[in-house]
Amino acid sequence: MDITDIEADITEVLFTEEQIAETIAGLARQIEADYSDDDDVLLVGVLRGAVMVMADLARELRLQLNMDWMAVSSYGSGTQSSGVVRILKDLDTDITGRKVLIVEDIIDSGLTLSWLLSNLRSRGAASVEICALLRKPLAVKVEIDVKYVGADIPNAFVVGYGLDYAERYRNLKSIGVLAPHVYA
Ligand code: 5GP
Ligand code: MG
Ligand code: MG
Repeated sequence: MDITDIEADITEVLFTEEQIAETIAGLARQIEADYSDDDDVLLVGVLRGAVMVMADLARELRLQLNMDWMAVSSYGSGTQSSGVVRILKDLDTDITGRKVLIVEDIIDSGLTLSWLLSNLRSRGAASVEICALLRKPLAVKVEIDVKYVGADIPNAFVVGYGLDYAERYRNLKSIGVLAPHVYA
């Protein structure tokens, strides 16, 4: 598959590379206003989708910070998550007393993050907040407090900038809507 095939799989570009960079910068300015260097914030990236967000957000933040990663799998098939979450890779960091900021690519049902939030809070962190690049309409209704949201998007399946379909498209620089013919 070459790059023109990939482009044919995207029906609409929602965020260009430049728009993503602006969104990340906006998130970084909000986060900087809420934390100081003394907070020694720990960014926790949720593998694998949040890799690009983490890499760009961390470099944009003018703060002392650490980075760690978790991998979780949400049981359920296809494009829907069930809320039953399993840890595939846990943190290497003891978060007792730490100010933790979870970095996520996208929130759909919010079930994965809701579980992760209570899991990390139960470990005695000083605070646990969420930063998500994108949020879908369903998530707005869920009772989880997402402090930092880059943008709200329509209810479509999007790929690129870390977001995959069947482990593909993560390397696209923009974020776009995946053509239904790909998964039909
Ligand atoms: P939730 O538990 O909020 O329903 O699901 C969150 C996870 O599902 C995200 O971290 C992401 O991995 C995946 N996901 C949700 N919506 C999309 C989407 O539109 N595109 C892609 N590629 N993944 C999505
Ligand atoms: Mg994710
Ligand atoms: Mg995925």
